[in-house]
Amino acid sequence: MALWGIDKHSIATPVLTVGEDPPEVKRYREDFEKDRLPRPSCLSSQCRVQRWTLRWRRRVLDEDGRPLRPVPIRRYRCAKHGEVTPLPECLAPCCHYLAHVIQQSLEEYAASDKPVAQVLCADGPAVVTVARWVAQLEDPATPGRVARMLGDSCPEWRRTLLPAVEAEWPRPGRARPRAWEHLQMLRCLARSLSWAGARLIPASLLRQAWRAAPS
Ligand SMILES: [Zn+2]
Repeated sequence: MALWGIDKHSIATPVLTVGEDPPEVKRYREDFEKDRLPRPSCLSSQCRVQRWTLRWRRRVLDEDGRPLRPVPIRRYRCAKHGEVTPLPECLAPCCHYLAHVIQQSLEEYAASDKPVAQVLCADGPAVVTVARWVAQLEDPATPGRVARMLGDSCPEWRRTLLPAVEAEWPRPGRARPRAWEHLQMLRCLARSLSWAGARLIPASLLRQAWRAAPS
């Protein structure tokens, strides 16, 4: 009975705040809208992929756990091999958080000795999620994989890329040695793959370097 008397407008309803796009998402949306996204390649250089439909990543979260507007993803098809749909570099495979959130957690973890529970300690990813991401930096198999990829793309990376990366990101006194070394190698790899100057390690690269299960 009491409920009937309540003015529904006086009941507080949660407001879903949509977060502002970080620069790399803004750039991606512009490229998408202006049709500037490069056509992906397929398994063979003989293949010609055709534009197909669209899909949307509807749940995309920033580092504070705020949702962003859905992100469109262009799908392509190869007549021989089927769907070829590259994920935008700002998104991580099978993960609601933006790729830069994963990178930020790696950077915070590697550059300090603070416990994982204090890495990205906003309202964003859960501690277990961050722990899964940063565990890859401590995996003894990581440097071997990354070094092989670096050897393929830039055999002289220790002489050419590493000094530049170390000049830009000097090692903090409290850095975790192994994690920091692996992070610097990933930064070298990102640069060697023509991401010169880019501060974002593409999610596809993180995944390839780790060969990890989707996180
Ligand atoms: Zn093909």
